[in-house]
Amino acid sequence: MTNMTDKIEKSDAEWRDALTPEQYRVLRRQGTEPAFTGAYWSNKDPGRYLCAGCGAELFGAQHKFDSGTGWPSFSQPMAEDAVETEQDMSHGMLRTEVHCARCGSHLGHVFLDGPKPTGQRFCINSVSLEFEPEE
Ligand code: FE
Repeated sequence: MTNMTDKIEKSDAEWRDALTPEQYRVLRRQGTEPAFTGAYWSNKDPGRYLCAGCGAELFGAQHKFDSGTGWPSFSQPMAEDAVETEQDMSHGMLRTEVHCARCGSHLGHVFLDGPKPTGQRFCINSVSLEFEPEE
């Protein structure tokens, strides 16, 4: 069993081999999938969302809400240390980027216009996630 603190490091070539081209574009090149196109933006099934890069548990369906944006949106991660954030000044905007704490793969961004009690909106690309339905 891999501990959450065990970071996963791969070379760029290894990531290219391990991921689909679209996963590579988003996870390793900070890309964004078009709104309303991903597999999970409207998914309401109970379960867990794992990192598509390393399988780490990132988000739970109990924290998912309909943001109307066309991207899977969560009010919080499953555990506080599951994700890390970084200031992102690309595209002429100041945003807070969110990535997997274990493998560093880009997930999306977090905004402060989410529902109570956290007020956070984790806006996450479907392609960065793998949904594991509850048994
Ligand atoms: Fe990961």
